[in-house]
Order: sequence, then structure tokens, then C-alpha cells
Amino acid sequence: MILVYHRVAEATVDPWALNVSPVHFAQQLQVLNTIAHPVSLRQLVSARSDRELPQRPVCVTFDDGYADNLYAAKPALETYRVPGTVFITPGYLGFPENLWWDELAKLVLDPASRQEELRLSLHGHEYAYVFPASTGELGAPDPHNNWRGWEIAPGSRQSAYLELYEVLVKLSNSDRDQAFEQLRTGAMPYADRHEHRFLTQTELRELASGDLVEIGAHTMTHPWLSLLLPEQQQDEIGGSKQRLEALTGKNITTFAYPYGKKIHYTQQTVKTVKANGFACACSNFGGLVTRTSNRFELPRFQPMDWDGDQFADVVNSWYRA
Ligand SMILES: [Zn+2]
Repeated sequence: MILVYHRVAEATVDPWALNVSPVHFAQQLQVLNTIAHPVSLRQLVSARSDRELPQRPVCVTFDDGYADNLYAAKPALETYRVPGTVFITPGYLGFPENLWWDELAKLVLDPASRQEELRLSLHGHEYAYVFPASTGELGAPDPHNNWRGWEIAPGSRQSAYLELYEVLVKLSNSDRDQAFEQLRTGAMPYADRHEHRFLTQTELRELASGDLVEIGAHTMTHPWLSLLLPEQQQDEIGGSKQRLEALTGKNITTFAYPYGKKIHYTQQTVKTVKANGFACACSNFGGLVTRTSNRFELPRFQPMDWDGDQFADVVNSWYRA
């Protein structure tokens, strides 16, 4: 089994369930040590037979490269001696502000920083949203704070978030930057702008140090790869490997597809990953790894912000699936 985490942090809004709190993360690692056997991704993919692996081998991975992977995840991995692989998007290293999907959640959903109105003019389309004033007390938690992007939108803000996400996710980086210039009308409080910042280069080297955390590649800038030309895909995939090797001084042999569902990459993408000398690549759909799994489309389960008991139940059900 391979697990995919993103952030070990708290958050007020989290439409894609990217956060696992530090307390829950520690409980989850304890559970893994009890009901499974954590191994490194390298160990899993290089095993030639079941005999080379313990019972119920499990790999812990992280996507993107958030700073909390160094400050919250790594210490917990060390405490419980659980190996981890962190797939990094090096184009964002040192970027001090929220990544676009986090900023969108801040602008549309988060009671602390959301805008009353949002307007976007893009490729001849006009998007305009005016949100009804909140009826609750100022500063009171939004009843929809726990809404997830795959659930039915319970209000106008959630449907606006999904509509804008679908538009923004397909844009080039420069078009998306321009779109955000339009969407950011009011100044967002400093703490909200920086809530989920990325690793810096120095922090990346610190994260990569020691024997427990391995660095993998996750493209340069996190594009929807299947929308790119083959040579652009090569630049994104090969570029991220080279950049991360230069920064860490280590061989980068593992890769994860951004977004990671079957629609987000093509067989051309898979070929490009192989041609760049990676040993395996992780996708983002659930499933167990078996002897016949494609090493370049490895399934992963995504744990949510569950406490140890809930997590143990879900992991057991995943192993039975
Ligand atoms: Zn990602």
C-alpha cells in the first residue's frame, strides 16, 4: 500500500482534504507501525517477490513540497522511524505565498479572508459572483467549513469555488497569474496569504538530509500534463529531475503525476517518465500495489484528517479491498 499526504498542518478550510493535523499524523504513523510495516518506496518497487517484503508493507509519500513537510512531518517520521518520499515541484521552491489552489480557497471560502465579490474576464468569458452577506456572527465559523470539493456544493461560495477551480486548473501559469490579479481585489491579511507556504531551497536540503526521507520529482510547475505538448511535458518532467538532483546532490528516481488521475496524464507522459530514467511513478487513484501493478502508474490511497482509531479502520478496509 502507498499512502499520499500533502500537508501536516491545521486549516480552517480544506476543500481537497490536503491537511492532516500534526496530532493525527503522529497517531496515524503509530497505527502503521502496529497494523502494517512501513517500507521505503524504493524498497517496495525494487522487491522481486513478496519474500523480500514484510507483511503488509506500506509506503508514506507526500506531494508538492509544503514547508510543513520539514517542520511537522519529518520530525514525526523520525520519532516513529517511518520512511517517507516527498515529491517536490521545484518551480515553487522559495515561493512565499499560498499556491493557487490554496489562494482560491482563501479568496472564496475562508471566512477570514474571503471576498464579497469576485470578477474574472478570461478568453472572452465573464465570470462574476456577488456573495450574500454571512448571516452568522462576525468571526463565527462557517457551517460549511468542512465541505469537500467532491461533495455537492451547499452554497454559492462552494459552487463558485468549483467553477473557478475547473477554469484555473487548465490555464498556463502566466494566464493563471493574470486571472488571480483580477480575482484579488481586497488585500488579504498577511498570515492568510502565507498560511501554506512552500519549502525554500535550504529547507529542501534539510528535508533531504538523513536516511529516512527520500526526494522524488513532481514536475517543475505542477501542470495538467495531458494538456501539454510532448516537448513541454519533457521540460516539466526531465527539468524537475535535473533541478532536484542539482539541489540535493542525490539521484532522483521516483516521480508522481500532478493531480494524478487518469485524465491528468497520457501514455505519452508515462513514456516520458520512463525515458528520463525514473524507476517508478505514482498516480492518485486508490488501490493496492500488487505484483502485476504497472510500476509507472502506482495507485495510492489518500488518508484524511482522521484520528488513530478511524485511520486504523480505514487502513484495514483498504487492505481487505
Ligand atoms: Zn501535487
